[in-house]
Amino acid sequence: VSRKWKVNPSVVDLGNGLQIKQGNFAIMAGPCSIEDETQIQKTIDHLKANNIQIMRGGVFKPRSSPYSFRGLGIDGLKLFYRMCRENGIKIITEVMQVSQIAPMLDYVDIFQVGARNTQNFNLLDELGKVDKPVMIKRGISGTIDELLYSAEYVFSAGNEKLILCERGIRTYETASRNTLDLNAVPILKDKTHLPVIVDPSHGIGIREYIEPMALAAVMAGADGIIYETHEKPEEAASDGAQTLNFAESERLVNKLRATYELR
Ligand code: PEP
Ligand code: MN
Repeated sequence: VSRKWKVNPSVVDLGNGLQIKQGNFAIMAGPCSIEDETQIQKTIDHLKANNIQIMRGGVFKPRSSPYSFRGLGIDGLKLFYRMCRENGIKIITEVMQVSQIAPMLDYVDIFQVGARNTQNFNLLDELGKVDKPVMIKRGISGTIDELLYSAEYVFSAGNEKLILCERGIRTYETASRNTLDLNAVPILKDKTHLPVIVDPSHGIGIREYIEPMALAAVMAGADGIIYETHEKPEEAASDGAQTLNFAESERLVNKLRATYELR
């Protein structure tokens, strides 16, 4: 995945003219977890109203506590996919283990590898064999080089449709959920030809501070942003404290696009 190997920036093609690449600015938004039909529809309506073409949402959720909501599973994914297809929206959703890849394959546009699975090397090997884009998040305590090596697993196994995501790392700081490492953006953009996107939601973990960090990520050179939004964040099944309501989301999208124009 090094620039020494391939000088020109990679293009991840999602079809219908939608491409994630340097020179485009990708916006992916949606809830932390897919909850039900009403929630999916309300989110789709919000995305369409704001010209956002990619919806995020987990159906297999890696939760710290086994008693927390762990997602709707494959039936939830099928519902999520069908509703998005009907509305011309692409989906990105997390795959947690090798056995989920085959049943998920026909119902995802981008496989997300979460921070807890960045070094699940068996999962990466298998994702290297599928013909679907993969977005790999930086590990919870992962270095930039470790993220690049994780991408190397997928790339060297044959899947070049890769996106990297900075989502914050664990540090000694306790004032925020994680420490969003925007240093990673210019460093990654220099080291690799892959598109780099930033997740300010998990990066800082506090709703009020998502917007400034998202805008900072744009100016740092990110090729896109992925963030959490929900009609009623206080009722969200997971990550409500870092989730924007639709008014906040709309404001962010407008500012992201205006900021990208300044770059
Ligand atoms: C998520 O995107 O909801 C998620 C679990 O992210 P991460 O793997 O970065 O913690
Ligand atoms: Mn989340």
